[in-house]
Amino acid sequence: MNDKTEKLIDKKGLRVDGRKVDELRPIKLEVGILANANGSAYVEHGKNKILAAVYGPREVHPKHLALQDRTLLRCRYHMAPFSVQERKSPAPSRREVELSKVIREALQPSIFMEYYPRTAIDIFVEVLQADGGTRCASITAAALALADAGIPMRDLVVACAAGKVDSSVVLDLDDVEDKLGVADVPLALMPNLNAVTLLQMDGLLSLEEFETAIDFAMEGCKKISAMQKEALKAKYVNVKETEE
Ligand code: ADP
Repeated sequence: MNDKTEKLIDKKGLRVDGRKVDELRPIKLEVGILANANGSAYVEHGKNKILAAVYGPREVHPKHLALQDRTLLRCRYHMAPFSVQERKSPAPSRREVELSKVIREALQPSIFMEYYPRTAIDIFVEVLQADGGTRCASITAAALALADAGIPMRDLVVACAAGKVDSSVVLDLDDVEDKLGVADVPLALMPNLNAVTLLQMDGLLSLEEFETAIDFAMEGCKKISAMQKEALKAKYVNVKETEE
């Protein structure tokens, strides 16, 4: 390990932003915030600010992409040019193409795809501000937007990463920890079915560290899952209050 990575956890065991090793960043979730999408959600996860919009099930364009036995699930993950410190080119990068696929595949197992043959469900994710862990926050946001659009699902997917900085396993890495840390393990979960829909690992961990990272990420997912449910409920409480 180089000297650079030795400074991410202080003598008291606290991280650069003052968190404990098993602590999530502050999270704010909101549902139903875009008038023109069928479903939408906004997530603030630490300094990440992410919008997700869902359209569908709707007619497929171009038509030849339509599937006879199920819906066509499409996802576009995009980072705004102002989302990172150095202006990011607005053109889709290889990373964005990969993350679009990763997010789609993490959500797909939760959706009853066969209910809507010859249609499309489109998910658009816009990262307005990025600070590490955007794929997980995007999955959390997109699952909420799918629920808000009324898409029938087996479970509400939630995602969270764990990893290793210095010599400690930590939950929910921010940008600095992601860049200077040793490993990052994003995980997406269907909490009621206890089924993992995404598991990646960037970096190296021992088997024991990997198991701790999975435990941390699962616990993180469960906490965020409770917040997702609150966010969904909050929308309907607000609607009821406005009607009264
Ligand atoms: P994730 O956001 O899921 O952790 P990565 O590990 O690929 O995905 O990216 C880590 C972080 O690096 C991002 O959250 C973002 O803060 C930063 N980042 C990604 N792309 C760029 C870019 N083009 N310029 C500057 N920072 C970037």
